[in-house]
Amino acid sequence: MYLVSACLVGVRCRYDGESREDPEAVELLARGEAIPVCPEQLGGLPTPRPRAEFVGGDGEAVLEGMARVVSEDGRDVTYAFLRGAEEVLRIALLVGVREAIFKDKSPSCGVRTIWLEGKKVPGIGVTSALLRRSGIVVRSTEGGTDG
Ligand code: SF4
Repeated sequence: MYLVSACLVGVRCRYDGESREDPEAVELLARGEAIPVCPEQLGGLPTPRPRAEFVGGDGEAVLEGMARVVSEDGRDVTYAFLRGAEEVLRIALLVGVREAIFKDKSPSCGVRTIWLEGKKVPGIGVTSALLRRSGIVVRSTEGGTDG
């Protein structure tokens, strides 16, 4: 069983209220092999919501308490991102998931690339980092693995 970013299978959970369907994720869901999750909604954020980015480091740094996630309206939303990551991990452990296929560049689901203080840089999202720490392989739909 896989976890997939819910926006990759057509759920309109992105910050802009839209989805980003990905054929591989949709196929896994159609075969009954995937559970869609949206960490930001599970963390209590609304949809649509202001876009958010990292300040001070990526998801690993957030888990260490060394960085924050801040929305474009200036609010510190780090707590919601951490709560969402914890809830996704809870689901993964309940179901025995070993691999996640996530949407890159998201501050939650990013695998190889994130937005940090206005720049697109190498890094990992908060949920991806927490899953990776728990031994779950996190893969981007845009190629490459991390963990
Ligand atoms: Fe998609 Fe993940 Fe962002 Fe939710 S948090 S909209 S699942 S990329």
